This record gives sequence, C-alpha cells and structure tokens, in this order.
Amino acid sequence: MYSKMRLLACIDCHGTMALPIDGGLSMVCDSCKREYFKTDGVWDFRADPNTGSQKSLAIYAELEFQRWLEIFEHTESKNWKIYETKLYRFFTQSGHRLLGRSLAKLTKVNDLVVEVGAGNGALHDFVALKNYIGIDTNWNMLCQLATNYPDKTLICTSGGVLPIADGIVDTFVTLHTLEHIYHLAEAFEEITRILKPEGTHYFVIPCEGGLPFSIGRALVTGPSLKRKYSLDIDLVMSREHINDAPRVLKFLKMYFRELKYTHWPLRFLPFLNTNVMIWGHCKSRPELLPLIRRAEIEGAKKPLDGPD
Ligand SMILES: [Zn+2]
Repeated sequence: MYSKMRLLACIDCHGTMALPIDGGLSMVCDSCKREYFKTDGVWDFRADPNTGSQKSLAIYAELEFQRWLEIFEHTESKNWKIYETKLYRFFTQSGHRLLGRSLAKLTKVNDLVVEVGAGNGALHDFVALKNYIGIDTNWNMLCQLATNYPDKTLICTSGGVLPIADGIVDTFVTLHTLEHIYHLAEAFEEITRILKPEGTHYFVIPCEGGLPFSIGRALVTGPSLKRKYSLDIDLVMSREHINDAPRVLKFLKMYFRELKYTHWPLRFLPFLNTNVMIWGHCKSRPELLPLIRRAEIEGAKKPLDGPD
C-alpha cells in the first residue's frame, strides 16, 4: 500500500519521492535531481558536505567527546555495561519492552511508523512493525539494523531535517532519543510537519537529572569508563544526555496536545529521584502547521545537527 506513495522528501529541496518498488538501489528527486543511494541496506540522506548548511555544536567536536563516540561505536555499543546482566537489562530495556507492548496494542497493522534514533533496532525485538521507516545519524548502527531486519526502510541523515513527506505519519517513535537532541523545538516542529493530524508521538526518556542516574554513574558506568578508557563519565553524559527530563517535558507540553506520561518503575511516586524513565504519548497540534510553514518561508528556521 505504501510502496507507491511518495513517502520521502528530498533534504535539499523538499520535493517528494517514492521508494523504488523493485528493490532498486537509487532514486532521484524530481525537483532538484539530487540522486540518493542505498548501500548495505541503508539509504544515504546525509547532507552534501559541499552544499549542506547543517550546523553542529562545537562541544560535539571536542576531541575527548569524539574519542568517546569512537569507543562507543566500535566497542561499547556491543557490550555496554548497562546491558551486561539480566538485572541491568530489566531496567535498561524497560522502555523497549513497555513501548513495544504499547505499539503492538495501539497501532493498526498498516500504520506508517517512523522512528528517529532507530540505532541498531532494539525496538524490533519487542514488536513487529510492517510499514516502518527507521532514521538515525549513525551509519554503522543502521547497517547492523539492516543485517538483522533486512525488510525495514532505513535512512541515515545528518539530523535536523527529516526526509519524510508532510502529514503522512500515523505513529512517530522516539525511544531514548529526545534527551540527545539539543535543538528540541526544531525537532518537534519537524515531527509536527510529518505527522497526520491524528498521528501520535510515542516516546521514552530517561529520568535524567534524578538520583538513580547519579548513583548508577557513580557506582557502575563511571568507574568502568575510567578504568577501561580513562574517560570522564560526566563529560560524556553531559553531552550525550544534553537534555534533562524536565526540559524534554517542557518542550513536549509546548508542542503537543493530549500529553500523557508515566514514570517507571514507581508510577505512583512520579518523581525523577524515584524512577529511571518516563514513557508516554501525545498528539500533534495541527494549528501549528501554518506557523511552522511561515517560519520556514521566512528562513527563520535553519537545519541544525545533533551528535546522535
Ligand atoms: Zn530535491
């Protein structure tokens, strides 16, 4: 059903495109003629370094943080301390489990589901999604996802502009992603643009800023990073989780309606200091659309980049 639809949008000119139906490995934007290619199961929609105006923050380019990104991608993403034991996984994969269950129950089988921060596809261990587009800035993680789930549409972008056509998404998913996006308002305007008027945004965020995270870092991940790589956990996590939970909630309240969320594991003690994550859903505010379009036309909004 979705195979013939013009689901994707050119990141340079915003012209729409349909995915090749015959398993083709390239597609061309009708409007600006930019050609996009699929390699190792992943579509490359990253900004053209020659023409792209993608802007990143200077703190993401610092050597010590770059060293961490290298370490994470090549070593730690496969045996990251927080997935080491069953007990750690009970806490660290709780978001995938709860959200997977929720999506299985609340989405219709033909819904178009778009996930930003798809990573290596941990969500798919918990729910089967038929019409799924996964987006991430990390090429190698998406390649791992493509290997494990070859039927998924996967797109690597530079962040900022989403390569999806306007108003077509039923379900938008961010799973442990919003805490990483410094330019939250810009990201939420993009999500509003691509969601259907009744579309839903499902999210999971960590209780960043709360006691359990400070304790976990002081006792578990901090000593491990120090010992293995002499990395400072505070330097790493202040940049990785650049938003604490109150900042994310504040922006969710501004940009979405019918926001409902639950703290986990202690939902009846809904505080940062007594929980490890917050999960929930909200609907877009279509009345923002004309204002977002006007801001785009006036050039008030520039595409911006995040680390991951
Ligand atoms: Zn184009």
